[in-house]
Amino acid sequence: MKGFDMEKIIDLRSDTVTKPSPKMREVISKAQVGDDVYEEDPTVNRLEKFIVEIVRMESSLFLPTATQSNLVAIISHCERGEEYITGNEAHNYKFEGGGASVLGGVQAQPIPMEIDGTLNLEKVVKNIKLDDIHFVKTKLLSLENTFAGKVLSLEYQKQAWTLCKERNLLMHLDGARVFNAAVSLRVDVKDITQYYDSVTLCMSKGLGAPAGALLCGSSAFIKKARRWRKVVGGGMRQVGILASACQLALEENISRLKEDHENAALLAKGFREIKSDDFIVEAQHTNMVFVKVNIDMALKLRDFLKKQGIIILVGLPNLEKIRFVTHLDINKQDIEKVVDCVRAFYK
Ligand SMILES: *Cc1c(COP(=O)(O)O)cnc(C)c1O
Repeated sequence: MKGFDMEKIIDLRSDTVTKPSPKMREVISKAQVGDDVYEEDPTVNRLEKFIVEIVRMESSLFLPTATQSNLVAIISHCERGEEYITGNEAHNYKFEGGGASVLGGVQAQPIPMEIDGTLNLEKVVKNIKLDDIHFVKTKLLSLENTFAGKVLSLEYQKQAWTLCKERNLLMHLDGARVFNAAVSLRVDVKDITQYYDSVTLCMSKGLGAPAGALLCGSSAFIKKARRWRKVVGGGMRQVGILASACQLALEENISRLKEDHENAALLAKGFREIKSDDFIVEAQHTNMVFVKVNIDMALKLRDFLKKQGIIILVGLPNLEKIRFVTHLDINKQDIEKVVDCVRAFYK
């Protein structure tokens, strides 16, 4: 392991673990602030204007988390007794505590997800309820892009959009990592967001802000969402402190997501050279590498790597797989070290 920085902790659990850079801390320290519940925080107002240009939608709202953004989106689109169609592995079905049903009286209709992160549109159609007193009203389709690092094609999203317009459904994108999708497809993010009525964007994943999310949509929708954000406790005050970090993240950290994708590809390539039945590299997409493992070996690998200053998550998203995530605090040399260490373990 000679030549590696043994002091540095290499944390591959998620792209949420990034720490604000010195420049980001500097920007935060100088942020102008006001009371955002009164819509008087100039830095939040600037950020909300800035993002609508990027996604080309009418209006936007700053929220503390993407979880709250999805919740507020769903309960703004759907009334009590209505439902949203989503994937059975989607974040807003599986990883958000059932918020829309718990807090909004909105039912989720999950559809088994295809391997590429899409929902089969024929299955979607079959799950749209007839207008009948027995049924909830189907109001919304929610897609996720990227899903498990996988990118939805523009063509698929266009088909889904066309279906929604034909069937009078609204369409929401959980685009927590949609900039990874845009960078990977080499398209402008507008080319993706054009197909949606609302979009959630997470600032604290690969973009590297400490917290924050943006919900975008029509002015009428954002007006409703602003009310629901307050109801669920998301009305923050001098939050330009955070918005300044998000602004910097959007200005500086979108195009560099390419490096994260390259590092993930490098990691997958190095891992594929490890010949073990207990360590099988699945496809790599954007900034994630999934590896099929034997759980007992994986727990030992986790402990082994920890001693080398490398942190991985075992057991999530499921027991059979480890997810390695690259981000702005991981460089090429870190990738080499990780590959070396994992190779040493399986030797
Ligand atoms: C992380 C994530 C969220 C939630 O983001 P938080 O800001 O951590 O609440 C929602 N959707 C997807 C797809 C995510 O990856």
